[in-house]
Amino acid sequence: MLKYTGHPFVDVGTATITAFAEKANPEDVDRQDLDSVASFIEQHYTKDPLKSFLTAIFPNAGYVQPAMKPEKFAAFLDRYLYGYKNEERLPGRRCVYCGREASVQVFRQHVPMLTGEGLLNFFPGAAPGLPVCGFCLLCIQAFPLGATKSSGRTLIIHSDNEQVTLRAAWNFLDDNLKYLDMHDITKYPDQKFPRTIFVDQVLKISGDLDERSSSITLYHLTNYGTTADVNIMHLPSQTVEFLAVANSAKFGQIWREIVRRAWQKVDDARPGVARNFLYEDLVDLPEKAARFVQVYFLRQGFRAPARFKDDPRNGYAFERELDLISWGLTAMFLREVIEMEAERIEAIRNLGDGLSSYVSRTNDRRFFRDFYRVDKYGQLRGLLIKVSNAEVRGGRPPLIGFDEFITIFEEGEELPRIDWRLARDLVLIRMIERLHQEGKMIEEMVPEEEVAPGGQAAEI
Ligand SMILES: [Zn+2]
Repeated sequence: MLKYTGHPFVDVGTATITAFAEKANPEDVDRQDLDSVASFIEQHYTKDPLKSFLTAIFPNAGYVQPAMKPEKFAAFLDRYLYGYKNEERLPGRRCVYCGREASVQVFRQHVPMLTGEGLLNFFPGAAPGLPVCGFCLLCIQAFPLGATKSSGRTLIIHSDNEQVTLRAAWNFLDDNLKYLDMHDITKYPDQKFPRTIFVDQVLKISGDLDERSSSITLYHLTNYGTTADVNIMHLPSQTVEFLAVANSAKFGQIWREIVRRAWQKVDDARPGVARNFLYEDLVDLPEKAARFVQVYFLRQGFRAPARFKDDPRNGYAFERELDLISWGLTAMFLREVIEMEAERIEAIRNLGDGLSSYVSRTNDRRFFRDFYRVDKYGQLRGLLIKVSNAEVRGGRPPLIGFDEFITIFEEGEELPRIDWRLARDLVLIRMIERLHQEGKMIEEMVPEEEVAPGGQAAEI
């Protein structure tokens, strides 16, 4: 009776009913399960806390209309909630979601983001309303139970991987059932940070998935009055895969500490009530990958006061957080998230190794400082040529060969790559990790008053 259709409201509703029935698949849901979720909806949607939550999802629907006469309300329920039971049919019209024979035409009060009655725009067949079957309609009535509330809007998680959709709906349903059990709650708890809720859920889910490569989408919507709007955020499968590997035994310890140090500094640090800055920035990958690397893997970029006082990144500094500098984790990020060529990653690592050996042997603090402070490409180039030449004069091999130099930093000779700063940050990460492993005092190489690259918290 129930199946996933690819439409987020129907799918999240299908997942919610499946979770409500405590079944593993929508195919296992039977008539009795549908009856029990429908009667639960009838019982709870007409009173707070759910009623006030629903005014932004189904405005003008029977649930939230206190003035609706009982017989009219009963007719509303019969048609739109228990529609899967009745014999009503729209001859010749198919359900737009699943293709079964449609039973009713629906409007904005029944399905969020549609237009109101009487408007023809965007409906098929020049007839107002969308033809829908009773099963899909029940799923759409049920989807708010598998959603959470954030900034006054409804937040749902949908994926091409049905396991993700099911687990997210299941988690939100569990929370909602808990709230409904608390007798003193009249208002649905609100949470401010949808991105943080999104990534927090993805992390809870992604660890147990058999099939990791799935992209996951967040819909953050309101169907309220004239402000109806939906905000869609997307975690591509590369980012989801990165998160799964970052949480694995190999990187988990460092990764979880990096995440922990990105929580907003507030007393109540529950996800959504507080924000996690790293989670929020994850949603901007891969576009802002260079900034992400600089802030979270190199622990730099926030020496100037950040916008928010409770932003923990104000205190980031690699010389004090050497335990978080990991070339392995960074290289995995480069492979998974920005799909950097293996050859370039290898060249960057080799240069980091060469430079750390050089600094370690010569104790050339000045070079280390200049290398991380440099903000013009010509200076960086000059600096590397200078130390490389000095090595050759001392009878040692050059620190960097011409081909590697091009691979890491340049499009063509002396034409820097657009991401040369990212490359420099990556070399630094490897250098710092190696110097730290060798017990070198990195703290001493960086006097307190130094301002690091990106010290103005500039966007890259
Ligand atoms: Zn249908």
